[in-house]
Amino acid sequence: MSVVAMNQSQMSEAEHALRVDLAAAFRLADRFGWSQLVWNHITARCPDNPDHFLINPMGVRWDEMTASLLVKVDIAGNTIQVIDGEGLVPKPGFVIHSGVFEARSDINAIVHTHTNDGVAVSALKDGLQPICMEGLFFYNSMGFHPFEGTSMDNDERSRLAKSLGNNKAMIMQNHGPLTVGSSVGEAFVLMYWLQRACEIQMKVLASNAEWTRVPAETAEHYSRQESDPRDITEDFRPGVHEWPALKRLLDRDDPGYVQ
Ligand SMILES: [Zn+2]
Repeated sequence: MSVVAMNQSQMSEAEHALRVDLAAAFRLADRFGWSQLVWNHITARCPDNPDHFLINPMGVRWDEMTASLLVKVDIAGNTIQVIDGEGLVPKPGFVIHSGVFEARSDINAIVHTHTNDGVAVSALKDGLQPICMEGLFFYNSMGFHPFEGTSMDNDERSRLAKSLGNNKAMIMQNHGPLTVGSSVGEAFVLMYWLQRACEIQMKVLASNAEWTRVPAETAEHYSRQESDPRDITEDFRPGVHEWPALKRLLDRDDPGYVQ
């Protein structure tokens, strides 16, 4: 592998913690079957400079990702400017992720995958359907981006941002799903729900049996329930409870990600 790990002394504690979270996201995503050889990207905005983000370099499998292997790049510009780290950053990863970070200052992490069921739903004319609670999580809050080929054109950044809008997830047509979050944990857990929803939908469609769509009124009621906990002590935002639990799984079985 031609990738060189960074020295931890070169970075702030906040950046190191973010790198650890991001490396955990790759290893967990691989465990859940979301990886595709060495392709696709999970990224996070740097805490010390919002104009920089961390991305996986070409050639590293998701199951072998570590905190120090991640490459820091500049969000702006038409050429990929590497700030820290070594390794090739593929242009489509830069275009897609920098476009979202640039447009949404509230977003600190992005997960994009090409899972079989995620791509399958992206090819369906009617997209994600209100079939199950996992999918209702995205009811009326899903962006849609028309397919333009592989994302090599810098101009696509503004179109991607427009397609995402203020949503927390987006289906990229004939391509795959994308989720965003204010933290790595939030973007990861949203992808978990979206991935599950895509898997369930494809099973339902493959069954050839008649199926029911949750009526709009009930779906809207569910959305309100999700966003309106019973009291202020309840915080069910995606990732708040799941992310520390998922990291404990890695700490027990696969702690090398923190390196
Ligand atoms: Zn992609």
